[in-house]
Amino acid sequence: MPNLENKRIITVATTGAWPKKKDNPNVPMTPEEIAEQERLQKERIRSRERYRRLKAGENLSPPFERTCATCAKTFSALRPNAKYCCPACRQKDYRRMAREAKSKVS
Ligand SMILES: [Zn+2]
Repeated sequence: MPNLENKRIITVATTGAWPKKKDNPNVPMTPEEIAEQERLQKERIRSRERYRRLKAGENLSPPFERTCATCAKTFSALRPNAKYCCPACRQKDYRRMAREAKSKVS
């Protein structure tokens, strides 16, 4: 018998202890299979989000047609969530929100 005095045994059940390949052939058992399942899960989440956005009619690549939150002008943006057509409109909206916040406090 080997000397186990300074050895440690680590047991990990990342996919659970009970299900086996004979119960379900899709149960990942090897580290490679577990890593592949993890990668596929991430991909599914990404593509589900992308699918939802495509179904909603969102354009998923620039330029994005956006409407300015301050002047209501339509502009072309590089980001899908751009709010303002120019820095002046962003500043104007920031000042408006600051003014509203100040009037709420007092
Ligand atoms: Zn604007």
